Parts: sequence; structure tokens; C-alpha cells
Amino acid sequence: MSDAAATKPRKHAPQPPSASNFIRTVIESDLASGKYAARGWGGGPGPAKAHEGAPQDPAKIRTRFPPEPNGYLHIGHAKSICLNFGLALEHGGACHLRFDDTNPEKEEQEYVDSIIAAVKWLGFDWGPHLYYASDYFDFMYEAAEHLIRSGRAYVDSQSAEEMRLSRGTLTESGKNSPWRDRPAEESLRLLREMREGRHPDGAMVLRAKIDMASGNINLRDPVIYRIRKAAHHRTGDKWCVYPMYTYAHPIEDALERITHSLCTLEFEDQRPFYDWLLERLVEGGLLARPLPQQIEFARLNLTYVVLSKRKLAQLVEEKQVDGWDDPRMPTLVGARRRGYTPEGLRLFAERIGVSKADSWIDYSVLEDCLREDLNGRAERRIAVLDPVKLVIDNYPDGREEECRPPNHPQKPELGKRVLPFARELWIEREDFMENPPEGYFRLFPGNEVRLRYGYIVKCGRAERDASGNLLAVHCTYDPDTKSGTPGAERKKVKGNIHWVPARHSFCAEVRLYDRLLKVPQPGTDRDFLEDLNHGSKKIVTARLEPALRNAKPEERFQFERHGYFVADLRDSRPGAPVFNRTVTLRDSWSRQSS
Ligand code: ATP
Ligand code: MG
Repeated sequence: MSDAAATKPRKHAPQPPSASNFIRTVIESDLASGKYAARGWGGGPGPAKAHEGAPQDPAKIRTRFPPEPNGYLHIGHAKSICLNFGLALEHGGACHLRFDDTNPEKEEQEYVDSIIAAVKWLGFDWGPHLYYASDYFDFMYEAAEHLIRSGRAYVDSQSAEEMRLSRGTLTESGKNSPWRDRPAEESLRLLREMREGRHPDGAMVLRAKIDMASGNINLRDPVIYRIRKAAHHRTGDKWCVYPMYTYAHPIEDALERITHSLCTLEFEDQRPFYDWLLERLVEGGLLARPLPQQIEFARLNLTYVVLSKRKLAQLVEEKQVDGWDDPRMPTLVGARRRGYTPEGLRLFAERIGVSKADSWIDYSVLEDCLREDLNGRAERRIAVLDPVKLVIDNYPDGREEECRPPNHPQKPELGKRVLPFARELWIEREDFMENPPEGYFRLFPGNEVRLRYGYIVKCGRAERDASGNLLAVHCTYDPDTKSGTPGAERKKVKGNIHWVPARHSFCAEVRLYDRLLKVPQPGTDRDFLEDLNHGSKKIVTARLEPALRNAKPEERFQFERHGYFVADLRDSRPGAPVFNRTVTLRDSWSRQSS
């Protein structure tokens, strides 16, 4: 694919969000002033001495999504992905997918693969712009030597503890290291020895020489290189020194000619170092202007959810969930198995927007976006989740007739399907009550209800076993009331219940998921595991209408009255689907918990 194609909107591109936000305002004013139209940015040669792989396409702006491949992506990452790819698409730009693999110990190919799959699944395409921080290790190392030679960095032989003690506090300035003024040649020699593996882990580090008295602790001679004798998933044993994330990240952005480097608010205090470093490398001729700018936005906090890789890993390791893709997990693999759609997630990202202020978004906002998306395209089906037999005493035994429910009430073009009607049906247990409270319009002795798409029936007696368990409900039907036949609607009834035929329906496992955590802000003042909702997964054996038998993995439906369901990606078998509940039809949680 040509580079230029990477900047064109794609088939699955989300609609550009219409609401403005502070990041879009910055981008638009940069485009208007031609800030990034300068040398090297409009398809000409890249910055001086840039990495060979520096992109050359004519993107007007360039953003990036830079995950660390040390875990699975979650819904918080989806916000960042939609923001970065969305802004690039909207402004004729490109968005890079870049693995920030500067930490050799925690990173694995498994995570790289899952991240690639997740970004694709969300509907975004980076075209040719797939990069790895480790591709730039040579440049980063050269830049480090340059900083030493220009008096901007030194090798510090203090122990980690000594460094910690001399760093100072928020109110007190730090103390200079005794090694701060060691000659550049000595630092250079030591850095090379570090690289050659001649010193053990932790023996010394390379630090930027900035200002130990700075009010910003991040400028108090931050560590930029450390010794780690560990194999890296891509560079193998080539290196025994690795750059720190805060040093590597600005360089990665600059080499890829990123224009707007969007990150979450916790990096705000790092911005002065980001700028300091790039300015020094421009001075040395290693990079050219214009430089990328870092812009911070508030991370997504979602109620009833934890969005931290560490906590998610803990849930998996302690077997509180059935793996990273457990449908209750807020990971993108979990969301996918739960039946969440890329369109629903993108709608969510657009709706919550971006801001500079930290806040919590209510989980129901996400669920509403999913309902909105699914309502338009999920075909309707009937499932009885807690079945009890309904026997129509005056309906001839052995007779069967067809009912024709529409696949989608607002979309006649989706057609109808056949639902056989017979003397014995399954209905929901909760649709019958012997002694109903006021306002109950479903089946109780003497009451009439409509069996959706079928006939009106009048409820008779309940049949019970010796210990009082309900075996069946008996009723009689009115032959003049079949839905869709002339005059069928003359008789009015208040209740309308769903059913499946006893003979042609089939049993299937259906999983009813609820929130994994039972409080809105889990882990506030205590271990978040104490906030686990132990009733978050309920498995039932449901009775499903025959049209569901051949549901394919990931096919989504609305089960009338129950919500949206998806055929499980992993556990469904041909002719034997297993369903996961994606979301109920209405927000029942706010009622339950109040
Ligand atoms: P975690 O805190 O879960 O470990 P992380 O920030 O360490 O996540 P990265 O892989 O470094 O994970 O994240 C890649 C990108 O996703 C970063 O730009 C980061 O700012 C962004 N990101 C991570 N979590 C969120 C969130 N909750 N909301 C918005 N963006 C996020
Ligand atoms: Mg991070």
C-alpha cells in the first residue's frame, strides 16, 4: 500500500466527531499557521539525520498510539486510540502504531499481537506506520553520547539509595551528585563500558545534567540510561543498557515526525524534560525542527471498573475472572467476547470527548452507546431464560402452525422468520403468578395475555408436584386472535409475553453478566478486590427459538425483553451456540443498587 493511502479515510473509519475540543483547536490553529508545513514535513526529506525509516508521506499532522506491550489493551486505551486515529483521519494526517518496548523485562510478543488485533478490531489502520521504540536504540545511544560530549549528561556512580536521598523533596531542592562534574571523557568511557556489559545492573546510570534545584523534580538530573542485562523481545542480547521511557519517548516522537503527541495528564510534569531533551538534540544537529508538541488530556475513569494493567493482571492471576478475555473484563478482548461492538466503543469515545480535568464517566454512558448501536442492527430473537411449560388445553395435540415474527421491528427489509406454534410452549417462570400483586398484567388464573406473534390465551390452573414445585401452567386460547389475521386486534389485553415452542426449541447455555465490581469507584480507600461483585456471572440453561440454532460466533441478537446477546466467540459450536449477555435493554443497575 502506498504511503499516501494511509492518510485516506477508510471503509471502517468512524464519522468525524462534530464537537470541538481543546486538542482539535490546537491542531486547527497549527494547520492554519503552517507550523508543520515547514521543511521536511510536507513529503520532503525528514529531519536531519533522522532514522532511516522516518515516514515520508504527505500527512498534514501525525499522531501516534504508543502502547507498552506489557498487557492487554482496555477501554481506557480505546479512548486514546479513537482520539489519536480519529484526529489524524479528520485532518488528513497519519496515526502511527508504535510499541514502546524500552523495558526488556516485561514485554512479550503475545502482547504485541493482541494489541495489533485490538486496534484493527476497533476499526483503525496505521497503514505502513508500525514502529517499535527498539528500532531507535542506536539513535538513542548516539544521542546519549552526544549529550555527554556537550556537557548535558554524566554517568553517576551513586547507588540508587544515594540518588534517592539526594533528590530532595517538593519543597527542598536536591543535592548535586559527587560525580556530576566528572570529565566528559570519563563519562563516555563508562557509558561504553556499561554498554559492553562490564558493570553489573545498578552499578551506575547515565543522567541528564539539568538542575538539581529545579522546582520540577523531573528536571533534577533524571536518569536516562540504565544497565539491564536482559534479553529484549526484538533486539535479543544486543544491548545491556536500555533508555528510560521518559528519554526514549520524545526521541521516538521526533524521529517519526509526530506533530501532536497526546498523552494522559500524569505526564504533564514531564513535558519540560520532553522539550529540554529535543531542544538539546536540535542544537547538536541530531534532530531538526519543527519539533513535536506534547499535549495532555484526562485519562478515562469508568465507574464499576478498574482500568489499570496491574489490577487487571491481578484479577487474572488470582482467578477472579476466567482470563484476560473474560466477558466481564474491561479489556478490549473481554469487551469483544461480551458482544461490545467497535462502533459502540467509538461512539462512546466520541461522546465522552476529551478534557483537561479528571473525572469519572458513568458505566451507563458506555452501555447506552452499545444499545444505540445494537438496536439498529441486531436482529430480534426469542429466548426463554427461566423456562416453565405452558399447556394450551384446547389446542389440538399434534397440530402446529407458523407464526412469523419480524427480524427487526423498524427494518422490514430484514424479513421474517418462522416460529412454530403448538399446544406446548415454554414461557418465563416470572410471567406466571398465582397470587399477583396489583399492576401485574401477565399470567394469573383468569387473566388473558397475548402470546407475542401468536394467540391470546386465558390462564387456568397451575400444575404442581407433591412438594409444590410448578410443573406447568394451563391455559386456553382464543382461535380468533392470531396476530396478523383480520380482527385479531379487536380484543385488547394488557399483558404480552414471549414464548418458544416446546418441541422445536433447543437448550443452550446463556451467561448473564453483571458488573464485576459493585461500587462506582472501586478501590477507593481499600483493596479493590473487596469491592468485587461475586454475583457477576450467572449461567442459565435457556430455551431458544429454532432460528437461533445456527447462530455463528460473534453474531449478535436482541433477545426480546432480555437485552442484547452475542454468540460466544470461543465456546459456540456449530448447531450449539452459547450466548453471552452484552447489555440489558434498560439500565437496571441504578434501580438495583439504590
Ligand atoms: P495502565 O495505567 O493501565 O498500565 P498505561 O498508561 O501504562 O496503562 P500504555 O501501554 O503506556 O499503558 O498506554 C498507551 C497509551 O494509552 C498511552 O498514551 C496512555 O496515555 C493511554 N492510556 C492508558 N490508559 C488510559 C486511560 N484510562 N484513558 C485514556 N488513555 C489511556
Ligand atoms: Mg504507560
